[in-house]
Amino acid sequence: MALQLPTYDDVAAAARRLEGHAHRTPVLRSSTADALLGARLFFKCENFQRMGAFKFRGAFNALAQFTPGQRRGGVLAFSSGNHAQAIALSARLLGMPAVIVMPQDAPAAKLAATRGYGAEVVTYDRFTEDRQALSERLAAERGMTLIPPFDHPHVLAGQGTAAQELFDEAGELDHLFVCLGGGGLLSGCALAARALSPHCKVYGVEPEAGNDGQQSLRAGRIVHIPTPRTLADGAQTQHLGEYTFGIIRRDVDDILTVSDAQLVESLQFYAERMKMVVEPTGCLSLAGARHGGVDLRGARVGVIISGGNVDLPRYGELLAH
Ligand SMILES: *Cc1c(COP(=O)(O)O)cnc(C)c1O
Repeated sequence: MALQLPTYDDVAAAARRLEGHAHRTPVLRSSTADALLGARLFFKCENFQRMGAFKFRGAFNALAQFTPGQRRGGVLAFSSGNHAQAIALSARLLGMPAVIVMPQDAPAAKLAATRGYGAEVVTYDRFTEDRQALSERLAAERGMTLIPPFDHPHVLAGQGTAAQELFDEAGELDHLFVCLGGGGLLSGCALAARALSPHCKVYGVEPEAGNDGQQSLRAGRIVHIPTPRTLADGAQTQHLGEYTFGIIRRDVDDILTVSDAQLVESLQFYAERMKMVVEPTGCLSLAGARHGGVDLRGARVGVIISGGNVDLPRYGELLAH
């Protein structure tokens, strides 16, 4: 039973749906970064997206396609990270109810931010309850539609609009570096790259402690790993999805890994040189460009900065590191 993989047409359709709703985020240049890498870098700044990360794109694109019946029932998601806020905000904008299932011990700031966007938060005990089962039961009881964080055709097509805008603004590129967790962003961006800049090499970058994507690409099947310990909390996924892997194995050139120390170095670079707050997971792409072993001399290089949501005390510690 072959999956019907989304195509670039789905990304282009998502771009039309997002118009006037998502920010068209800036593409920034840095002569210091260019000198450091000996290349011409184009930073696509999704840390300036609504709710602070690219996840708004996929969430809004998925919810905008609900049928009238689905809209009445609303949306359910489980996440303690950016997907929760993306779904909550998109649901509010589209006038539908949202339930977010989060661990009881999620940071108070995240619970508050999600409630602040108008979602109902249902908490569960990470140690005794299975969130997938709980979410499915709640969705069935309340007639809500569950939207997963990455393995969904409408979600990944929405994420691809980040790269579509980058190519639109910067023109064709030689290399594109993308932060990788479950692969929604990477697979969507790869669809855009294959259509808009066919010779561009596309790389996913994941934490070295959680290199399930790299292992999967090498093995030719989805490899599962235990939850990795890494500063990149948005990339603590245990495995790629069926849709995301189907696209990644076909359209992505390689998956690179970086250490937490290399993430901190990039986080400090963004703060000091580019005056930007980038969350540790959002630093994967630049760290991969710097340390992934790809020869970039003289090349035109895209770097997707995925998000900027980081607690201030935590951010202060990382800057002082
Ligand atoms: C979710 C997220 C990622 C990983 O995205 P996937 O689509 O799961 O690969 C990377 N960076 C940030 C900031 C995120 O929120």
